[in-house]
Amino acid sequence: EAKSKGENKCIYYTSSMNANLSEQIIIEKDLRHAINRNEFLLYYQPQLDLSNNQIVGLEALIRWQHPNLQLMAPDKFMKVAEETELIIPIGEWVLRTACNQMNFLKTKGYPCRLSVNLSSIQFLQDNLVDMVQDVITESGIDPNNLVLEVTESTLVENLDVTVDQLKRLKSIGVQIALDDFGTLYSSLNYLKHFPIDIIKIDKSFVRNSASDKRDIEILKTIIRLGKNLKLKVLAEGIETKNQLEMLKALDCEEGQGYLFSRPLAMEEFIKNLYTVGNGM
Ligand code: C2E
Ligand code: MG
Ligand code: MG
Ligand code: MG
Repeated sequence: EAKSKGENKCIYYTSSMNANLSEQIIIEKDLRHAINRNEFLLYYQPQLDLSNNQIVGLEALIRWQHPNLQLMAPDKFMKVAEETELIIPIGEWVLRTACNQMNFLKTKGYPCRLSVNLSSIQFLQDNLVDMVQDVITESGIDPNNLVLEVTESTLVENLDVTVDQLKRLKSIGVQIALDDFGTLYSSLNYLKHFPIDIIKIDKSFVRNSASDKRDIEILKTIIRLGKNLKLKVLAEGIETKNQLEMLKALDCEEGQGYLFSRPLAMEEFIKNLYTVGNGM
């Protein structure tokens, strides 16, 4: 009895492992073709001014529609993209596509900030700044409306190169956001040494912000620190009204999260443009 149960479990486990394994093999085999086959798409998630619930920015988030797999979020393929350095052409595709799509929004009379995530691998490219400048010129986006999001781990990985690249990016007029802020121990140091405009408080601090006293203290401290350093502070991962109320009470300037909107394709986003944040 017990043994056959065990066997069943084992068989079940093995077949799901095989499914994951074959998915992984497909990802590794097909990622290099995904750009040419036009399989990437961008979703956009709005960023709101919490004082008036107006959309002030959009973050572009990549998705991969492989013909034989479910729509994939970046956690499925980003590691492979970085290991193979395919993130370099992919990252360029993201930036160019997002800037062009934003410019389309601008022609509809809807100018707003665009955030694009950069991988640490992209910072090792000598021509990163030239690439960004070319995309700005070609797309006609106002560089001040372009925010490049970097994570703390990107900064740590290649400290000197990254600082240098960030300074050069600042000099062409773009803004820099520090993503997932608070997840690494040495965060505070970065605020001092890096040319940063926006800090994005990691969603792990927002999750229990309506109940956990320590998380509330941490949020309070980060928000005050941001204000004192004249940085914009945005809270990620707002999912409930209670979290929103707490962040407003702490005077957090901006927010982003499922409560306002999930990331959406541009057409969907345009349809929802006038309802995001209503009644909050
Ligand atoms: P991120 O830049 O911190 O983006 C925020 C992630 O949180 C997104 O996941 C978003 O869908 C998710 N999110 C938004 N609101 C909520 C919420 O209320 N609750 C929860 N639980 N999650 C929320 P996504 O799209 O799966 O992206 C994951 C990560 O992949 C991003 O984290 C970013 O680091 C990376 N990524 C996404 N697009 C790109 C890209 O074009 N290039 C690079 N290099 N990385 C990207
Ligand atoms: Mg981001
Ligand atoms: Mg983040
Ligand atoms: Mg993240």
